[in-house]
Amino acid sequence: MRKIAIVGAGQAGLQLAHGLLQHGYAVTLVSDRSAEEYENGRVMSTQCIFHDGLETERKLSLNYWDGKGASVEAFYVNVAHPGIPGERMIQFSALLEAPAHAVDQRMKFAEWLRAFTKAGGTVLQQSATLDTLEELADTHDLTLLSAGKGKLAHLFQKNPERTPYDAPQRQCSLVYIKGAAKRDGQPGVSANLVPGAGEIFIIPGLTRDANGEPLPYESVLFEAVPGGPLDRFRNVKDPEELKQNLMDAVREFIPWEADRLKDAKLVDPQAWLQGGVTPEVRHPVATLANGREIMGLGDTVILNDPITGQGSGTAAKAADHYLTRILERGEQPFDRAWMEQTFEDFYQDYAQFTCMWTNAMLAPPPEHVLNFLGAAQSVPSLAALFANSFNRPKNLFPWLGDPNAAKELIAQHTAKVAATAQKL
Ligand SMILES: Cc1cc2nc3c(=O)[nH]c(=O)nc-3n(C[C@H](O)[C@H](O)[C@H](O)COP(=O)(O)OP(=O)(O)OC[C@H]3O[C@@H](n4cnc5c(N)ncnc54)[C@H](O)[C@@H]3O)c2cc1C
Repeated sequence: MRKIAIVGAGQAGLQLAHGLLQHGYAVTLVSDRSAEEYENGRVMSTQCIFHDGLETERKLSLNYWDGKGASVEAFYVNVAHPGIPGERMIQFSALLEAPAHAVDQRMKFAEWLRAFTKAGGTVLQQSATLDTLEELADTHDLTLLSAGKGKLAHLFQKNPERTPYDAPQRQCSLVYIKGAAKRDGQPGVSANLVPGAGEIFIIPGLTRDANGEPLPYESVLFEAVPGGPLDRFRNVKDPEELKQNLMDAVREFIPWEADRLKDAKLVDPQAWLQGGVTPEVRHPVATLANGREIMGLGDTVILNDPITGQGSGTAAKAADHYLTRILERGEQPFDRAWMEQTFEDFYQDYAQFTCMWTNAMLAPPPEHVLNFLGAAQSVPSLAALFANSFNRPKNLFPWLGDPNAAKELIAQHTAKVAATAQKL
């Protein structure tokens, strides 16, 4: 039986661990947190995963929360007017072709961890060190580091060609709230761009109440341009105060969302987060002091800013891709060439699009992107294309980076609308 070690029990590590166990591998999973620590700890993300990412979980029957509420069915896009405070310059919405879902990672990882142990997986509860990695690599056929943004990620060298920034481009502030009034229309993500200041996202999700029962909530995530008008919460250290400050800022910057949220309460005292992410793509293989090679997975090697909500979905797809390649490898060695090829195929086929899109969103929007969003107000197929690109980011290319391609695309879709209108 082939032995595989995975360090880090998050989206990617847990998903891959389950997949391998289901295929008869002996899997050792190192987790620095117990299920109870996950449940009682701080929130980590807004974790909205779109349809194709969810399908990779469903393949492994890890979709415990399907049908339990908080399905995400639509996208509401607003661009605040730069000259008239409280007004919108652009506004449109579109349905998703298939629902997305955001399951509180505290609940998800705790349940997946328990299920992994129950199914016969080995869990070592400890914070892995370099010594742990060497020991694991000595005793396993393959060792993967899937420790998210944790310190050990720096074992993998940065790939400068794929990493345009060297500091966080946004300061994030996040709270989970419950008891907001229902939005008109389908439940969905509200994405609000405030030119020069950053973005404010409101995302439905599913957590649990004090009795462990499913509880729908909404994340309010501020992505503040450092030093800009939304970057005023970094020193707030009290969750209730942060929640109140964010609600006040919602009323000031995106008042169209404020009334609906006015009676909402913090989900629990741990339902808040502050921080910034430096986006980074790293080389996928690291050589340890004992000469063994280990491979990176998930955020450890492909880390994006949360602005496009792609990290968990990309981690889920990476876990799915690695699983396929490990199974295909059979009894052959997991050598450096195999590790590099496995990663590169994933990067070329999928991850490069999430990275390029996410990094582009961190820069001020160019004219052709604003033109696209403007046209989406009156051309529903453009609105749908944009909303459904959160599931398939490749669909944003080439037009996102190419003004001529954007112009052509807008013209094609607009002509179709005009032709339909003429027929009527
Ligand atoms: C504010 C915010 C909002 C986000 N919103 C979204 C969103 O809406 N949609 C989306 O798709 N993504 C989102 N993301 C990103 C997403 O949460 C991550 O990309 C995803 O969780 C990455 O999965 P992973 O398995 O690589 O890492 P993680 O899920 O972070 O798991 C890594 C695990 O490894 C553990 N670990 C670390 N060091 C060690 C060690 N030495 N030993 C043992 N264990 C260790 C950590 O404790 C952690 O549990 C968001 C992120 C942030 C910060």
